Amino acid sequence: MTMADITVRGAGIFGLSIAWACVQRGARVQVVDPHGVGAGSSGGLVGALAPHVPENWNPKKQFQLESLLMAQQFWTEVKAAGGHSAGYGRTGRLQPLQDARAVVLARQREDTARDLWQNHAQWQVRPASDFSAWCPPSETGLVVYDTLSARMHPRRACAALAAALVSKGVTISAEAADTGQVLHAKGYAGLLDLNARFARTVGNGVKGQAALLRHDAGEVPQLYADGLHIIPHDDGTVAIGSTSERLFDHPSAPDNQLDDVIARATAAIPVLQQARIIERWAGVRPRAKSRAPMLGPWPGRPGHFIANGGFKIGFGMAPGVSQVMADLLLDGNDHIPPGFRIEDNL
Ligand SMILES: Cc1cc2nc3c(=O)[nH]c(=O)nc-3n(C[C@H](O)[C@H](O)[C@H](O)COP(=O)(O)OP(=O)(O)OC[C@H]3O[C@@H](n4cnc5c(N)ncnc54)[C@H](O)[C@@H]3O)c2cc1C
Repeated sequence: MTMADITVRGAGIFGLSIAWACVQRGARVQVVDPHGVGAGSSGGLVGALAPHVPENWNPKKQFQLESLLMAQQFWTEVKAAGGHSAGYGRTGRLQPLQDARAVVLARQREDTARDLWQNHAQWQVRPASDFSAWCPPSETGLVVYDTLSARMHPRRACAALAAALVSKGVTISAEAADTGQVLHAKGYAGLLDLNARFARTVGNGVKGQAALLRHDAGEVPQLYADGLHIIPHDDGTVAIGSTSERLFDHPSAPDNQLDDVIARATAAIPVLQQARIIERWAGVRPRAKSRAPMLGPWPGRPGHFIANGGFKIGFGMAPGVSQVMADLLLDGNDHIPPGFRIEDNL
């Protein structure tokens, strides 16, 4: 057996997409995860790839914009290699504007988006009536429609990446010895480990719960209303999420807080009231102290690297994260944006 240049520990979206970027550049990679592909927070079902608001620009927002713009090609190549679809589609997003102040702000952002997003995407203030029944109620009759937001199905995306990796000869196993450089992409468990090793809080977990409904909404935009994401997938399902819980006893058990999420979503979109709930799911988002992704060499541990802290936007960030980590692992080139370093959390 040939030895791997890189051992990736953790088969969530960060580990898998970094493994993929390295394989695409010709590296020999193995992936090791005792719990299997998508066993952590990446095995969920929401999958909003949504931008920050186009204002107060900073390196984090720029990195996220670039990552969102990479996604189409990224998921197309994954599908071409392994034959599985991640359910990616750039279907845009609607957000109701509930008062005059929100409308003023949204119109300002219409302008700033022109500068910041340039011709890649638009942030438009539009009449809710343009979108007929698939639109949350809006007090002003107006909504923001952005053409940057996309969706994909998290669990299917992990499976698609695993298939693409296997098609290139990568082994994905529960247990294997380290060979080559080691990337630790262990999500919440990895943060707890880092907290213990550094004897301080580097990050923690924020539980989230979501539901999947059987409803074929077609190729319509995702919705963001009343703090909830409503994501129509391309397989005749709609995902609704999520709760955000700093304190929790049962990391992977949904509870009655999810009932409230479902009730609010179906109140906003009555057509969903008839839809059958086919899954209730919970996971723990890995949140770095800085709230940004936490990427780079493991301080004081040569040959070891960390990719963690995807928090609420791990899937949106994954294409960009995979590129900067492959640059670092394979070429020693450090293009990690300011604020994304391990040291920012120590
Ligand atoms: C309810 C909910 C909704 C979300 N919605 C969105 C969304 O709409 N859009 C978005 O972009 N993001 C969303 N997220 C966030 C996203 O899911 C996370 O940012 C992302 O999954 C983090 O990926 P990860 O690979 O870092 O961690 P994980 O997916 O948790 O992967 C870590 C992996 O490491 C493995 N592992 C643990 N210990 C070891 C070990 N010792 N050795 C090897 N492997 C180990 C685990 O088994 C696991 O597979 C959501 C999260 C939740 C919970």
